[in-house]
Amino acid sequence: MPLPETQSGGDGAERLDVFMARANAAYYARRDPFADFITAPEISQIFGELLGAWCAVTGRGLLKGNAGGDLLLAEAGPGRGTLMVDMLRVLSRVAPDLFARLSVHLIENSPRLREVQKASLKRFGVPVTWHETLASIPRGPMVLVANEFLDALPIRQFVGAETGAGWREHFVRDGAFVLSDAVVSPPELAGRVPEPGEIAEICPAACGFVQDVSRRLCDAPGAALFVDYGTATTASGDTLQALRDGQPVSPLVEPGTADLTAHVDFEAAAGAAMATGVRCFGPVEQGALLIALGAVERARALCAAAPDQANTIRTALDRLIGPERMGRLFRALALLSPARLAPDLVAPPGFPDGTPYGEKP
Ligand code: SAH
Repeated sequence: MPLPETQSGGDGAERLDVFMARANAAYYARRDPFADFITAPEISQIFGELLGAWCAVTGRGLLKGNAGGDLLLAEAGPGRGTLMVDMLRVLSRVAPDLFARLSVHLIENSPRLREVQKASLKRFGVPVTWHETLASIPRGPMVLVANEFLDALPIRQFVGAETGAGWREHFVRDGAFVLSDAVVSPPELAGRVPEPGEIAEICPAACGFVQDVSRRLCDAPGAALFVDYGTATTASGDTLQALRDGQPVSPLVEPGTADLTAHVDFEAAAGAAMATGVRCFGPVEQGALLIALGAVERARALCAAAPDQANTIRTALDRLIGPERMGRLFRALALLSPARLAPDLVAPPGFPDGTPYGEKP
């Protein structure tokens, strides 16, 4: 996207979000992401199984007054399809009636990963449709999950000019950051007085996506669960990172050869959701969510069924829920349609007391 010269950092500079979108599109189109990083569903089947149970409970709640109705099961950024495979396996076992009425909708823009997902999901015999965006998913009761999707969406970064004077924006040129000439005051940062040199990040794409999902849930019955790494409240600092072969590398050089992500600002995401009137819950830490959904009991059952695998199972569980591992840095935000559309869904499973966003448990 060409930018006006006044907005750009000079010759050939790209705004950071434009650079990040281009780098990640090239990355997911060419590389096998899972050679470079590992996600919760790839660590253990327990993650997808528990999210499958979450979908079964919320799906049943949504369809309670609509026996025989169909359910759309949607996922944004499904990667290899592992999470959906584990969810469908659980749904087919614990909720066969619901499973029989499911259609699967995957939001995925990488043609390569679409092929991988197609191969993974074939055996279930469930109708699967791929979408570029949420907009083309048909209307109807929907449960949507997204794991490590929002963190891959492009961010903008601002650096405090003089105190109170506004912000300069990060552009990328020749593998390095350059600052915009102009001082700007984006609406997302209204009310934040910059310290000189302070870094502020915004992710209009993530907030926009969460808000689009929320609008949908205000229009038709539904539930959504976002799991990602990030902060419960808006924080300062540069969180852009790149991983190649499991190692951190510079995010700005060789675009398309490493996975670029940034921390999700759950306060901003929840704000975007609540502006629509949707019911918003959390964020809760991933460890707390998985424990509440029965992770420890599930691990115990898996160990009993395969004692020779017990160490591997326990190590994987620790990676998912351990406070020093993914348990605290990763968080979950849940959205439910307003009560008038989903009267039988009082709270999302795994969220203590169904505490709505912003209220202390
Ligand atoms: N949820 C998976 C994979 C996370 S990697 C897991 O937990 O293992 C991020 C995923 O989001 C990939 O499938 C990638 O292709 C997809 N993705 C990234 N940006 C996207 C965009 N703008 N639109 C659609 N899909 C996107």
